[in-house]
Amino acid sequence: MRKLELHWQILIGMVLGIVFGFVMTGFSWGQNFVTDWIKPFGTIFVKLLKLIAIPLILASLIKGISDLKDISKFRNIGLRTIGIYMCTTLVAIVLGLLLVNLLQPGDGISDETIDKLTQTYATGEDVQRIQANASKQQNKGPLAFLEEMVPDNAIAAMSNNRLMLQVIFFTIFLGISMLLIGEERAKPLKNFFDSLNEVVLKMVDLIMLIAPYAVFALLASVVVSAGDKDLLLALVKYAGVVVLGLILMIVFYTILVTVFTKKNPLWFLKEMSPAQLLAFSTSSSAATLPVTMERVEEHIGVDKEVSSFVLPVGATINMDGTSLYQGVAAVFIAQALAFDLPLSGQLTIILTALLASIGTAAVPGAGMVMLVIVLESVGFPADKLAIGLALIFAVDRPLDMFRTVVNITGDATVSMMVAKSVGKLGKPNVQEWDDHYEEVK
Ligand code: ASP
Repeated sequence: MRKLELHWQILIGMVLGIVFGFVMTGFSWGQNFVTDWIKPFGTIFVKLLKLIAIPLILASLIKGISDLKDISKFRNIGLRTIGIYMCTTLVAIVLGLLLVNLLQPGDGISDETIDKLTQTYATGEDVQRIQANASKQQNKGPLAFLEEMVPDNAIAAMSNNRLMLQVIFFTIFLGISMLLIGEERAKPLKNFFDSLNEVVLKMVDLIMLIAPYAVFALLASVVVSAGDKDLLLALVKYAGVVVLGLILMIVFYTILVTVFTKKNPLWFLKEMSPAQLLAFSTSSSAATLPVTMERVEEHIGVDKEVSSFVLPVGATINMDGTSLYQGVAAVFIAQALAFDLPLSGQLTIILTALLASIGTAAVPGAGMVMLVIVLESVGFPADKLAIGLALIFAVDRPLDMFRTVVNITGDATVSMMVAKSVGKLGKPNVQEWDDHYEEVK
């Protein structure tokens, strides 16, 4: 019998997980059962993906750079990548602001709902934690991000997934130095990293064997821990505006793919779908990175020289979905709490959301932390911040799932555009995700 394609397997796992989650909410013991006995399998899967993120970046970036043979090419790729990332993020924020101003989701929120949301979430641990994290971020100088990109200890950088930019910095430094000492002398190291690269890609394949079961666990646990249904419904208009914006971003990417790479956009979406479904299930661009890289390289045909740089950098600094959400959420909160936000305020949002997208960690819920910074930049009163966050907290997890899909789709699109522009968009070289699995059984 022909095996179902991976994205169908994952999709079935997701749907069954959602149904199972709903059934479990019907039992008094359901939530505990899912949290204690089902969720751990999802968590293990996410940990496995994160486990290989750093070795993957290291091995594939070294391979990408050392295959370049010429450093000036790398500068080309680097500048284009950063430039296009900035542009797509700007489009996302402006689109979000246009939609939220046009559709005004905050105006219909009654005082009663605001009170209820405030009571439920404003003093809760989560909102307090978000504020505390945000103030840590805020006390930094304007060049802090440059300073933070340079590690003072390579091993320490590699020991923390949040320091991915530091690992990228070290790896580029190492790769360029390898180029400079010449092929012959760099050969042993290059062989080592080439081999490591293949091994790590096989690890991705092996982890993906459990993806359909893991997404079942992840989605079941999201469903059982969802908030009060009435509160979710009260926010449906706001959530609708965010989701509409995110869908329009996907449309925007398909246009970019068509215009700049002349590829069929539906083919692009189909090939990326396993990564998108994982982004949705895990709410983490960082955890999805190994799969995004595999799809882009093997199924889309982007050369490693491009993808090995563009994708890890994108996972950390390019978050179009998150930026769009920040624009919508900030204006929504202002509308709901009758805080006056003139045009100049909205322009400030564009700038801070752009910077916030660079500083947002690629993990669940990080976008909300940076939202605090966006709100404060427009002079939103500090004493009302907790109320503002409480307003959108109930729907944050589902929106996080959607925006993470956009975040990784944006990275994949830009990697195609950059690859095309430097003549590195080739034919897909599809390796089945369970190739050679039979051999090791
Ligand atoms: N979860 C998002 C990501 O990993 C970040 C966010 O918007 O919270 O891409």
